[in-house]
Amino acid sequence: MTDAAVTRASALKSARRLEGVNLVNGKLVGPSGKELFELYDPATRELIVRVANSGTADVDEAVAAAKRAQREWAQVPARARGKLLVEAASVLGRHSEELAGLLALESGKALRTECRVEAANVVDALQFFGGLAGEIKGETVPFAPGVLSYTQREPVGVVAAILPWNVPLMLMAIKIAPALVAGNCVVVKSAEETPLTVLRAAELLSAELPPGVLNVLSGDGPRCGAPLVAHPDVAKVTFTGSVETGRTIYRTAADKLIPVTLELGGKSPMIVLPDADFDKAVAGAVVAMRFTRQGQSCTAASRILVHSSLHDRFVESLVEKISEMTIGDPLDEATDIGTIISEVQFDKVRGYIEAGRETAGAVAHEGAELPGDERLAEGFFVRPVVFTGIDNAHPVAREEIFGPVTCVMPFDTLDEALEIANDTPFGLAASVWTRDLKTALVAVNSLEAGYVQVNQALVAGVNISYGGYKQSGLGKELTLDSMLDHFTHSKSISLNFQ
Ligand code: ADP
Repeated sequence: MTDAAVTRASALKSARRLEGVNLVNGKLVGPSGKELFELYDPATRELIVRVANSGTADVDEAVAAAKRAQREWAQVPARARGKLLVEAASVLGRHSEELAGLLALESGKALRTECRVEAANVVDALQFFGGLAGEIKGETVPFAPGVLSYTQREPVGVVAAILPWNVPLMLMAIKIAPALVAGNCVVVKSAEETPLTVLRAAELLSAELPPGVLNVLSGDGPRCGAPLVAHPDVAKVTFTGSVETGRTIYRTAADKLIPVTLELGGKSPMIVLPDADFDKAVAGAVVAMRFTRQGQSCTAASRILVHSSLHDRFVESLVEKISEMTIGDPLDEATDIGTIISEVQFDKVRGYIEAGRETAGAVAHEGAELPGDERLAEGFFVRPVVFTGIDNAHPVAREEIFGPVTCVMPFDTLDEALEIANDTPFGLAASVWTRDLKTALVAVNSLEAGYVQVNQALVAGVNISYGGYKQSGLGKELTLDSMLDHFTHSKSISLNFQ
């Protein structure tokens, strides 16, 4: 049986239970210095709760708990670890409505279009990695007659998982699941903006695992994230966030000579060729741009390259589609589009929209109406914007906005489209829309991106390798290979009894 349907009141109640605590050694505990910060509802700007702002002492405590637990956890047979995770995932599944409600409350993402989907995907991701436990295998090596040479996979140790705010629950799951199944223990640091859902989910998971295997700290980047990365007992960092923070983490990790996985930004192109299924491509653009997530996605199709013959009709249809969407209270079942995460992001997104508007020749086509509800008057709501007349060199087309802002740019030849598509510092994802296989393959082979899709632009899912080229990051996630590459050491062994 799953939990009861969520309301704002029930979400607030779940949030208040988590006031000022971390999850360390299997228990909810207050931060050592009792330092707290305030967490506001992005839809109403009302105070939700005060959250732990953990510091070095809390980091030391959490890493020590993970280190203590690690030796025994590594001794648990891999399939037994996987089974525990699968069982823990089903516990999470029974609380998915509570988790979705908490997520909608703190993130401003719509409950129906985003948060419930994320809560369900999390269960799937945990089960997927749990089921892969038996694949943590080595190889035998033909070394010499009479000598048995083989490899075995061993855990790396204590893993630090540093999370962003856009899909916090899912990103926690895809980091902790392979790490735990491979025999590591984890200290998660949640993002300042979304500490609650992660903490509640980890509390539920942790109750099914030995104490210390999974720990969660709330806190800001400099006070909590930096000392966690720098901690001498942290053997691996997996991070999703901005390019700038990714670089800072990489530098610290370089000093310690520990491995990192970095999933950074994107400015993903979508190329619509003249023979594309027009309606499918327009509907695909709404999904690809993640308008239901206010565009707050690394893979958002924030540059839509449309063949000149279709350009004007495409823009018109896209704006029409967006206009059918409802912007509103994230916890309202009728809402398609919620809020931007925070005031900082709200100002940043509006700054880009202003910069676009002020550009000669650019037109901002807006869709969907802002909510009329007085209670939401101060919320961080932004109408989706489709720009035309923006050049690929413009900051709106060049920089990651992380808001509901895309530009549609015309092209005449495939070569021209591919040149524009690749003219970006990022390389996370791309999509191509055509009915012609040869054209599709030329595009697929030319695009500098970690994930290229043809005639679809779905959100990344488990079992599809995910990770960027260029400034979009280092390493892959979501697959068996990524679990083996990023969360295990391969030890070579030769036995010679001759
Ligand atoms: P954004 O700008 O979208 O908040 P960040 O990359 O700054 O993205 O944040 C992503 C995560 O990285 C958050 O959990 C944040 O607290 C953390 N973080 C920020 N600075 C550091 C740092 N110097 N070391 C470790 N983690 C950090």
